[in-house]
Amino acid sequence: MIGMEGELLKRTKSFCPDCLKVIEGKVIEEDGKALIKKECPEHGKFQDTYYSDVEIYKRFENFAEVGDGVENPRTKEQRGCPFDCGLCPNHKSHTVLSIIDVTNRCVTGDTEVILEDGNIERIENIVNEKKEGMVLSWDRANYVPSFEKIIGWQKLDAPEILVKVTSHTGKYTFTPDHEVLVDTARGPMLKRVDALKKGDKIYSLAKLPISPKKTDIIELLANSEFEFFVYGDFKGRIKEQLQQKFGSLKKASKSLGIKYERLIDSKISLSAKDLRNLREKGFSFEIGSSFIKIKVHHKTYKIFPLLDEDFYYLLGLIDSDGHVESFEEAGKSTSYISFFNKSDNLSARFLEIVSKYFPEQTVRNESDRIDLNNLVLVEIAKQ
Ligand code: SF4
Ligand SMILES: [Zn+2]
Repeated sequence: MIGMEGELLKRTKSFCPDCLKVIEGKVIEEDGKALIKKECPEHGKFQDTYYSDVEIYKRFENFAEVGDGVENPRTKEQRGCPFDCGLCPNHKSHTVLSIIDVTNRCVTGDTEVILEDGNIERIENIVNEKKEGMVLSWDRANYVPSFEKIIGWQKLDAPEILVKVTSHTGKYTFTPDHEVLVDTARGPMLKRVDALKKGDKIYSLAKLPISPKKTDIIELLANSEFEFFVYGDFKGRIKEQLQQKFGSLKKASKSLGIKYERLIDSKISLSAKDLRNLREKGFSFEIGSSFIKIKVHHKTYKIFPLLDEDFYYLLGLIDSDGHVESFEEAGKSTSYISFFNKSDNLSARFLEIVSKYFPEQTVRNESDRIDLNNLVLVEIAKQ
């Protein structure tokens, strides 16, 4: 038996400091202290001082309350308390004493952040509209990017000194004490922006930790003026559905506002708007997984229509290390995509994905720079 000497204040669980097994413990009042006494069947008795003044223990006990736990536990229930610590879903108490890290570390309102759905938002919009949700952050404990809940909004007057950091992917303005992730010989490290030196390499994400919903090219180009040539019986299947619903293609054309020739003539394509229109009216059709052709300003592109993670990765590469260049050509404005990268691996990956989706695409590949003239990709990249 343990704890016979003093008055039993509370039973609790503790663990054996030797084998770390969870064992019964008792909080005992003894010599004016609150002690925890416990006994491991294998390693014997142990005691620790819990409170050196039992009166303070009793005072705090008056405020004890079993709460409902936290909404955002950081660990899973796996091995039981205390091994799941972190907080786990079983933890009952709420924050009693909040430790607020007082800081004015800030960025300017035009700084963009990435939301959980992959959309990009300016910080000022999040603050002004008190938007909730998750934003992409840096998990300092595990050194990986992770989405974190927005827990508050603060607008501060800009201090006199701000630091502008320019990299070849953009310009950012910070308060001097703000940190950024820098590549060092020891791996990624956070460094205050006022300590950055010219030539320091700051990290930019190559791949977002989101799983984009699989979509097809019609959805991405729904607002464009592009014409779609879809091979196979794709149009046949649409026509069947229309005939069933409207009785005839003529009636379907009238009621949907789709040109009759587009429906009946197999040599004429359906436009992106027609296809979107049909989807909005509840017609469901799979575009299929064979190549389609899209016509933009008299130029035809062969494209694989089902867009998976590779395609979004390509857009991410264009967003981070590329840009859309627009210029005048024979009185018409046109655009192309340039991708700059010193990494041969990334450039090879870029080309590999381009040829997966656009097998007929030609590119100009010169030291660290790839140019491609592809108005479909330009249209999507600009969105
Ligand atoms: S977080 Fe979970 S494991 Fe940690 S003390 Fe609370 S209940 Fe125990
Ligand atoms: Zn033990």
